[in-house]
Amino acid sequence: MSQIAFIGLGNMGGPMAQNLVKAGHQVRGFDLSAAALEALQASGGQAAASATEAVQGAEVVISMLPNGQLVEQLYLGEQGLLAQLPAGCLVIDSSTIAAESAQRVGQAAEAAGIRFIDAPVSGGVGGAQAGTLSFIVGGSEADFAAAQPLLAAMGKNLFHAGGVGAGQIAKICNNLLLAVLMTGTTEALALGVKNGLDPAVLSQIMQQSSGSNWVLNVYNPWPGVMEQAPASRDYQGGFQVDLMAKDLGLAWETALKSQSAIPMGSMARNLFALHAQQGKGGLDFSSVQQFFIAAS
Ligand code: NAD
Repeated sequence: MSQIAFIGLGNMGGPMAQNLVKAGHQVRGFDLSAAALEALQASGGQAAASATEAVQGAEVVISMLPNGQLVEQLYLGEQGLLAQLPAGCLVIDSSTIAAESAQRVGQAAEAAGIRFIDAPVSGGVGGAQAGTLSFIVGGSEADFAAAQPLLAAMGKNLFHAGGVGAGQIAKICNNLLLAVLMTGTTEALALGVKNGLDPAVLSQIMQQSSGSNWVLNVYNPWPGVMEQAPASRDYQGGFQVDLMAKDLGLAWETALKSQSAIPMGSMARNLFALHAQQGKGGLDFSSVQQFFIAAS
């Protein structure tokens, strides 16, 4: 059993922290949202009034924040957590952020004698709730091994991608592909419906055909086709359009630096950016379906 500080208890961090509580760990969490803190307390965790309070006595710190700027603010600088943690403490950042941002935190942690891994996740809110996330880790072999028992309480597939930052590169590649699959699936469904097909029947056909993919199998973007998908609850919860747009921006920056071509990812980024500009940034990313329904 470990004493764990968990910073960022949103759509993903909330259920991840709850799974650590269920596994018998002592979890003290902090979030800016009072509702998120109450949910942790209701599940048997403790609520802290600040990140500094959350890390008192912690052997492990886990963060699950929206972006790299917030992660760097949390850990770096005179007021940052790295200046407050004891040597040997293990820091696991599961937010999706730039590899360079993870490396800046990793280098500062190393200088302070603190262990650090980047461990972004895949599997969505459903995977976070069920404890079946994939963790994609960047860090040393020893730190990956030390984190494994905790990661196993929140996920079922644990991958070691390479050194610090490598987890983020792999995660960004995955989300680029997910964005292409989501936009392609929404386009295909709208085409079928416009031509008289039932979206549920077309989805079943494509699931069993060569167009099958994760979006069709667990995250159908057409309202009413899949009861547990965000599309069937007005695209609330899930993975926000703003977060997908951020991830595609990270993919773009990574492509620029490595002189890589990402034409499909660029197209998808523009679609999500336009969708966000139309006021849809807080909806689940499958709401990009509305683009094509509106166009039909
Ligand atoms: P979210 O917006 O639901 O949760 C983020 C939480 O962080 C919020 O509760 C917010 O109040 C809190 N927060 C923000 N600044 C804070 C601070 N300074 N101190 C403490 N708490 C703070 O986002 P999410 O969907 O949980 O995503 C979190 C991260 O996980 C993102 O980097 C995202 O890209 C990634 N991710 C999300 C999904 C998904 O399906 N939602 C899947 C994989 C990865």
